[in-house]
Amino acid sequence: MVVPTNSVAQTGSNIRRVQPETPMRDLMDGCSRWEIPVHQHGFIALVDVMPRLAPVGQTADAAIVQAARVSYGDGTKQVSEDRTLVRYLLRHRHTTPLEMVEFKFHVAMPMFVARQWIRHRTANVNEYSARYSIVPDRFYRPSLENVRKQSSVNRQGGDEPIDAGTAESFLGLLERAEANYQEYLQLTEKGVARELARAALPVSVYTEWYWKCDLHNTLRFLSLRMDSHAQQEIQDYARGMFDLIKPLVPNSCEAFQDYEMEAMHLTRLEIESIKNGAPINTTNKREQAEFEAKKKRLGL
Ligand SMILES: Cc1cc2nc3c(=O)[nH]c(=O)nc-3n(C[C@H](O)[C@H](O)[C@H](O)COP(=O)(O)OP(=O)(O)OC[C@H]3O[C@@H](n4cnc5c(N)ncnc54)[C@H](O)[C@@H]3O)c2cc1C
Repeated sequence: MVVPTNSVAQTGSNIRRVQPETPMRDLMDGCSRWEIPVHQHGFIALVDVMPRLAPVGQTADAAIVQAARVSYGDGTKQVSEDRTLVRYLLRHRHTTPLEMVEFKFHVAMPMFVARQWIRHRTANVNEYSARYSIVPDRFYRPSLENVRKQSSVNRQGGDEPIDAGTAESFLGLLERAEANYQEYLQLTEKGVARELARAALPVSVYTEWYWKCDLHNTLRFLSLRMDSHAQQEIQDYARGMFDLIKPLVPNSCEAFQDYEMEAMHLTRLEIESIKNGAPINTTNKREQAEFEAKKKRLGL
């Protein structure tokens, strides 16, 4: 969609309706949603973005630059290209201009993923009500190869696939838990309140919500949930989210990868060890292992 004129319409009220100086385009190309399927039953869909319109040839990064120039003044325009300015903001954690961009997603995910996701408090959320409506018959089941063994180094996570026999037993257990669904339906039909009946469903059941968040906090979410320490299932959604926002804010996403996702934080102890060529000054085994992993990445 292109809005070409540059005029101020008199409307009879005291509102001055200013047309854009340059032709504008719909950043979602007129689509009602951009959707990425996740696992067998889930999806993440972008349903709106603010700004939805940007000057032709630009992206939603333009809204960040526009806001930043309020603080840095017009002078910035001469010394700094838009991409350079966005990269400067991310590098120096000048984050409020990033809050000028917002995304609205529609997501269908298993309850156990939603439990982790909801911890990100800076978003606006509206969720499917299992008090009001019957829960749809959708359950998450990993593929056989994706049944992970409990990690020996990370008490919170799984890592390699477990042997096929044990994986099959686990999938059988999930199937039996899903079988509760038929009884859940029957008992709600007999009058048991939906708000109580749902207690019989496992956390592999799906829920849905609309999730609206600004770019700054979306990137915070992504840095935690695309990280290899996050549970694989939420990582799959986070990667879908990143793919959806990349075409809308390409400069911000590039800077995020360069300065955050693929960057590295060094502690004072680590810097001293590298400078002095001495072992890291801690007896904490986990800290030592983390430092070894960083040194490996640095080729040291
Ligand atoms: C790998 C991993 C493991 C985890 N394990 C556990 C666990 O075992 N148990 C558990 O309970 N949680 C766990 N969490 C959740 C984690 O502790 C955070 O709650 C979650 O990642 C959300 O982070 P956040 O608070 O920074 O995000 P948000 O809530 O989105 O907040 C973003 C930022 O806004 C600010 N902010 C938001 N709300 C407030 C507030 N009320 N007051 C002050 N500042 C605020 C903070 O600076 C915050 O960092 C885990 C998370 C990860 C990624």
